[in-house]
Amino acid sequence: MAAVRTPAVLLRAHDYGDSSRILRFYTRDHGLVSVVARGVRGRSGKGATTLASFASGELSAFVKPQRELHTMQDFHCVRIRSGLAGEMLRFAGASAVAELVLAHTEQEPQTAVFDALEGTLDRLEKALAAELPGTVLAALWSITEAFGFAPQLDPCVRCDEPLGHDEIGRFDFAAGGVRCAACGEDAAGGRLGPGARRQLESLLSGEVPEGLAHPRRHLALVSDFMAYHVVSRPLRSLRFLGGLMPPDDAIGASAGGQADG
Ligand SMILES: [Zn+2]
Repeated sequence: MAAVRTPAVLLRAHDYGDSSRILRFYTRDHGLVSVVARGVRGRSGKGATTLASFASGELSAFVKPQRELHTMQDFHCVRIRSGLAGEMLRFAGASAVAELVLAHTEQEPQTAVFDALEGTLDRLEKALAAELPGTVLAALWSITEAFGFAPQLDPCVRCDEPLGHDEIGRFDFAAGGVRCAACGEDAAGGRLGPGARRQLESLLSGEVPEGLAHPRRHLALVSDFMAYHVVSRPLRSLRFLGGLMPPDDAIGASAGGQADG
């Protein structure tokens, strides 16, 4: 049987038996692929360190259809991204991104998800500390968007009328977007002011908005949205991540809009 070769990002690894490891990759050509890497644990030096989470490279594996676990032939690491381990928030952000990709049940390979994953991990590794909260939020939103679940911010998800420049909308999680003020009365989600809406727009395109206000509320928003549309259970890494985010009024408190409630 010939091995398949595909660009791949290592999302998670754990020990298996005496000397092997089970590795879970997101691959460009085959989506999520779990492999057993035999005899790698006794290895020291380069071979072992490149099998660390968030490394990118070329995976060769013997992939059998209808199987959940395949056999790795080789992983040629191109980028280790060891910088992600340097800071708790950086590492927690990357872990949340990995958990999000692992928790999504879509089995078909999605090139957009692979590209978004590579891009967000690179940005998380290199972001300045001050921009880290926004970079983490942008990472979660851009993976969500790559899965095909971007929220509709304008026009209103119920009446289809455009929202006014200063209009305070309300998030409707079930409908997957924002309701205008007139339709917002009985929506269950929180208020979303014009400033927060524009910041959310930046985050969705993978950009860190200037003067990002209320990072914890933004994290709650993306968490709730993912729970509705992308994953079937809450992600464990998000609770940990929430504790590392700066308090809501610590940065950019003077920014125009507020994601009230
Ligand atoms: Zn409306």
